[in-house]
Amino acid sequence: MKTATVSLLRCDTYAPEALDAALRASLANIGFDPASFSGKRIAVKPNLLIPAAADRAITTHPEFFRAAVRLIKASGGTPVLIESPSIHSLERTLKKTDFGRIVAEENVEVADVEKTGTLVYEAGRKFKRIEICEAFFGCDMSVNLPKFKTHGLTYITAAVKNLFGAIPGLGKSKMHVKLPGPNEFCDFLMDLYGALHEGFGKPMEIIHLMDAILAMEGEGPGTAGTAAPMNAVLASMDAVALDWVAVTAAGLDPKKAYTVVKGFERGFGARSPEEIEIVGAKMADLGGKPLSPSRGSFMSNMVRWPFTSKRFKNLSIDRPLPREGICTLCYQCMKICPGGAISKAAEGAKRPTYDYDKCIRCYCCMEVCPEAAIEKKRGALQWLFRL
Ligand code: SF4
Ligand code: SF4
Repeated sequence: MKTATVSLLRCDTYAPEALDAALRASLANIGFDPASFSGKRIAVKPNLLIPAAADRAITTHPEFFRAAVRLIKASGGTPVLIESPSIHSLERTLKKTDFGRIVAEENVEVADVEKTGTLVYEAGRKFKRIEICEAFFGCDMSVNLPKFKTHGLTYITAAVKNLFGAIPGLGKSKMHVKLPGPNEFCDFLMDLYGALHEGFGKPMEIIHLMDAILAMEGEGPGTAGTAAPMNAVLASMDAVALDWVAVTAAGLDPKKAYTVVKGFERGFGARSPEEIEIVGAKMADLGGKPLSPSRGSFMSNMVRWPFTSKRFKNLSIDRPLPREGICTLCYQCMKICPGGAISKAAEGAKRPTYDYDKCIRCYCCMEVCPEAAIEKKRGALQWLFRL
């Protein structure tokens, strides 16, 4: 029996008319009437990880965001931009990207994302109380606008992972300390997904509209990743089903995507690919090449953290290392590091000092490094495995 519907459309442009048509067709495909936005405050959650140009594919494309808010407004709804970037303030991130201009042109309300409210979710496995941006509590429904990207820790970041930005500021890094491994971290992401539906004291609908027109491959999700065309717009009310379709359409392995594996297991919607109905294009019609995963994903998926000692971790899991000559010693990596593993450069050194015993391999430093200076280095055991 089909329990989830995912719309998949071919789209290879960010031209406003094409995006408007794609979003309207996507909603029609999943049986959502935009008239349902009427009279409601709609939380709109793009991916604004760091201030970056649209063609880097690090953020949701600003024109994709514009198309979504226009559609909501044309249907009588009030869009409210809610997003907490990883390290910079939302205000600064908007100013340094085209989002600031579009927010002004479209007269979009921007939430104060510093204030927090608490979701209560008794079914949570890791946490039953989750602090998120308070602004969500003043909205009637949410529109999630993820960018499809590969990810060094979680294999992909798509619809489920994009909701992590509901947690304010450096609270996100603290979660990496509490949950220092992809398994438990993604268990928490599923808690958050459930809580964002049921933790407000009333059910909250979330529509997921994914920007996979220009996606990211390689060492995503930040500056070390590479933009790659995927030519797709996807939509669903079921983020797990949507992530399965996206990761499969990207030519990646859905069995390595934690949010998909754990999502099926938790049973918020579809529990297997057989329960997903895809409406619209066929995956083969998208015309993009298969995307390359992050190299670190291989070992992250192999190693189960409860069995890793510091020494085994250092031998077997890629470690982040800034490259001298590219690193500008801006110390944004140090600011975000949840493990407290990064300190200032030693005298005469041209990169920060990393303590790999403390490093939990979350790769947040890679996400925020503005110079893409940090690369992953293999440990000795990994070289042995390769041989
Ligand atoms: S590695 Fe990147 S973020 Fe860290 S100090 Fe160097 S340039 Fe800045
Ligand atoms: S050094 Fe980088 S990968 Fe290690 S804990 Fe800090 S931010 Fe995470």
